[in-house]
Amino acid sequence: MIPGARLVLFGRQGAGKGTQCVRLSRHYVVPHISTGDILRSAVREGTPLGQKAAEYMRAGDLLPDDIIVGIIDERLERDDTRTRGFVLDGFPRTVRQAEALLKVTSPRGIDLCINLDVPREIVLRRLAGRRVCTDCGTNYSLEEPPKYNATCDVCGGDVVLRDDDTEEAINRRLDLYELETAPLIALFEEWGLLAEVDGTGSLDDVTDRLVQEIDRRREL
Ligand code: AMP
Repeated sequence: MIPGARLVLFGRQGAGKGTQCVRLSRHYVVPHISTGDILRSAVREGTPLGQKAAEYMRAGDLLPDDIIVGIIDERLERDDTRTRGFVLDGFPRTVRQAEALLKVTSPRGIDLCINLDVPREIVLRRLAGRRVCTDCGTNYSLEEPPKYNATCDVCGGDVVLRDDDTEEAINRRLDLYELETAPLIALFEEWGLLAEVDGTGSLDDVTDRLVQEIDRRREL
């Protein structure tokens, strides 16, 4: 039995990673660490990092590895990740980031890297309808909107279309996934850390599959 849960969830943009990470972080009582959320809040606050990040994000480009690794390194230094673990959302996205992650988390490393697998045609459809809370980052869709118009069910924040959910940026992010992130599948397999989970179907079905897979590995 591995104590705690030190998890990475990765996959195509729009595979539902964000929502599933929130659910996993509640289930295993570990912090949800999303590089996208950290960057969006830096953009909102207008910090130097945010000013730099905004251009990359709007275009759907990846930020340079050293900036992102610095952010994660700093975040994983905080006490809340040491006791029970964490679930990483949107990091790593490149081979260099994955290698850096192993160094930063050494000697305990990562327990499991889960590829949440959703085909490109399906994520394109999902992304077109995606809406997000500007305050807490909760995701909604046209099929599952907030109860009251554009007001977040969780925190009352504004629910909007993401700046980077334009057709051009979405296609750019999906191309970058194939080029930069898909090679992580073979790498994590080689490191003995890979699990593949089908990300299609209802949110509850996907969460059940993820929890089953994580618990199965934790019991090995
Ligand atoms: P996300 O919310 O995970 O879709 O991230 C939104 C945007 O933030 C991405 O399109 C990138 O511009 C940037 N970003 C987030 N995580 C990373 C990362 N690990 N490496 C490089 N750029 C990132």
